Amino acid sequence: MKYSFMIEPGHTVKLKDYDPDFNAGLKKEEAAAKLEKLGEELSELQYLMYAAADTSLLIVLQGRDTSGKDGTIRHLTSHMNAQSCRVASFKQPTPEEIGHDFLWRIHKETPIKGSITIFNRSHYEDVLVVKVHKLAPDKIIERRYDHINNFEESLIDAGTCIIKFNLHISKDEQKARLLDREKESVKSWKLSVADWKERELWDQYTEAYEKALEKCSTKEAPWYVIPANHKWFRDLAITEVVVERLRPYRDRWQEDLKKRGVIALKELQTYRDSLKAGGKSTSEEA
Ligand code: AMP
Ligand code: MG
Repeated sequence: MKYSFMIEPGHTVKLKDYDPDFNAGLKKEEAAAKLEKLGEELSELQYLMYAAADTSLLIVLQGRDTSGKDGTIRHLTSHMNAQSCRVASFKQPTPEEIGHDFLWRIHKETPIKGSITIFNRSHYEDVLVVKVHKLAPDKIIERRYDHINNFEESLIDAGTCIIKFNLHISKDEQKARLLDREKESVKSWKLSVADWKERELWDQYTEAYEKALEKCSTKEAPWYVIPANHKWFRDLAITEVVVERLRPYRDRWQEDLKKRGVIALKELQTYRDSLKAGGKSTSEEA
């Protein structure tokens, strides 16, 4: 069962075609049971990826304010070993960052082989917020879609698996979540006037998202629209995609680890044989 919507390359995107309330007819408890299984598989796949160390995983999270990027990160990392996963958050660029090309700060944060990096916002901000607020000339922004596709292609060539998620919430759900932050004292720190101001630009953001998804959904690095009004369903949909994208690597990783295991055992045997031949034996001998 598919819980998300993969954007086919070249497909015209209209976000209104995707229901943010979609839950595949699942009840919360059913989803929790499925999620637990997928979570276990994700842990196993991450372990294999870490050990085989020939592939890296880049997860890109994009979505409007309150769409659940932080919650998604909490969920995903709960199934991951902290040793081989990290989060990179992209805020308004610093003067040093803005003095470089827009991919400069991004490239530095990409994952090393064997590890996972989750981008909390990303290079896509440079065709989203930058486009909506006209922070760069149109001509420059127009060229960025190709730059992004080429950049991602070069990461893929270097062994990176790229998964891009758009957390899709409705305008009503955003309002409810923003108001919720006002009511709950532990959530108020998240409040920002900017969130309400950005909300006024809802339609402009919709257009910018549609264009980014349309131009930058490629065969190797497709975009996935995630119905995100229900947090429990969002977590299930995202985990399903991550597991499905990593599964095809499993056999290769296991084969590779088996071969390395055989070599390591052989080396150990040779060492022990040499000790014996020299008349030295240790009490630790197996
Ligand atoms: P938050 O994710 O709520 O901490 O907010 C980070 C803010 O930084 C958001 O409003 C983003 O739109 C903004 N931001 C991220 N990247 C860029 C960028 N390249 N140019 C301008 N603003 C950005
Ligand atoms: Mg914010």
